[in-house]
Amino acid sequence: MKTFRFALLATVLAVVAVPSTASAGPDESDDAVRELADDAAELVAEEQALLDDDAAATSTARLRVVDGTGAMVLEQFDEMGIQLTAATRAVLSPLPVDGEGFAPPAQVYDAALDDLMRISATPTAALPSDSGSNGPALGLLAVAAMSLLVLGAAALGNSLRRRESDDELAAMAWSDGLTGLANRRRLDLDIAAPDLKAPVAVIMVDVDHFKSVNDRFGHQEGDEVLRRVAAMLSAHVRYDDVVYRYGGEEFCILLPGANHDDALGVADRVLLAARTIVLPDETNLTISVGVASIPGADVATTVETADKALIAAKTGGRDRIVDATSTELELA
Ligand code: GH3
Ligand code: MG
Ligand code: MG
Repeated sequence: MKTFRFALLATVLAVVAVPSTASAGPDESDDAVRELADDAAELVAEEQALLDDDAAATSTARLRVVDGTGAMVLEQFDEMGIQLTAATRAVLSPLPVDGEGFAPPAQVYDAALDDLMRISATPTAALPSDSGSNGPALGLLAVAAMSLLVLGAAALGNSLRRRESDDELAAMAWSDGLTGLANRRRLDLDIAAPDLKAPVAVIMVDVDHFKSVNDRFGHQEGDEVLRRVAAMLSAHVRYDDVVYRYGGEEFCILLPGANHDDALGVADRVLLAARTIVLPDETNLTISVGVASIPGADVATTVETADKALIAAKTGGRDRIVDATSTELELA
């Protein structure tokens, strides 16, 4: 975490030099640009001071100031029509208030940093091509640089607060309380992250007739079955794969870097393993499985396609795998 913070600050300080140099010309916006950069630099300096001073570490008021600036920057990006990734939005949006949620994990800051670096490197390219604006490149640079600074400040504030807070509570925001798996919110962020090793295959799993498990054995036994399914899935995926609880009795597995056969292999293993889960009346559990691995497709599309395959597995009679690729469900 410490290395991350220092790397972040170094980047931030390198980038803030850009608008100052670029604004050496007679352009009218020079002053505004410098002012923005100065404000932002001040913010980071204050955060750095907080970092060095443990006593002030949990100053909520301070974090609110950082939040206010982040929200302002987000607004400026939106006004200019610049496309931002979900990670950047998450980081620039107000951090959750204590007790009501938790700040994004460090890798989200990393992803957002990459995005802002991209914008600051080629600000005009970040504008949508149909915007009709020839774009005040200098102003954009300043905004991008400032965002980096705010990001740095927010990251510092966040890490400060985390150091004080209960790590288990922070982890809860990204994991499912019942099963301990990564949660849906986490999946949405991971889907948006640009650094998943391509291609990403997706497996969707839904427990068959789960409502009847609850009806026959009670909700608590139902919960226990969900925990066993979660543990089974985690035990049968590869090291790099991530299992998420997608919804009630539905799970999603992302398999970064997996080829089609890898994904089918994992699907086979979990289908067979589910049948070994025995219910209190000695009957066996079954699951339905949808698999998708689409070269060149983004992760969100692959998830959607795997979901369609899962539905086909249900309508096809349950306790089976449907492979979207071989059945060309993505065209449906
Ligand atoms: P299908 O084979 O078509 O998937 O049928 P199903 O009964 O599994 O599906 P349905 O969507 O009808 O029911 C899902 C049930 O899962 C209903 C809901 O009460 C239950 N459920 C969702 N979340 C939880 C949970 O956290 N714990 C327990 N015990 N049950 C849950
Ligand atoms: Mg079900
Ligand atoms: Mg379901």
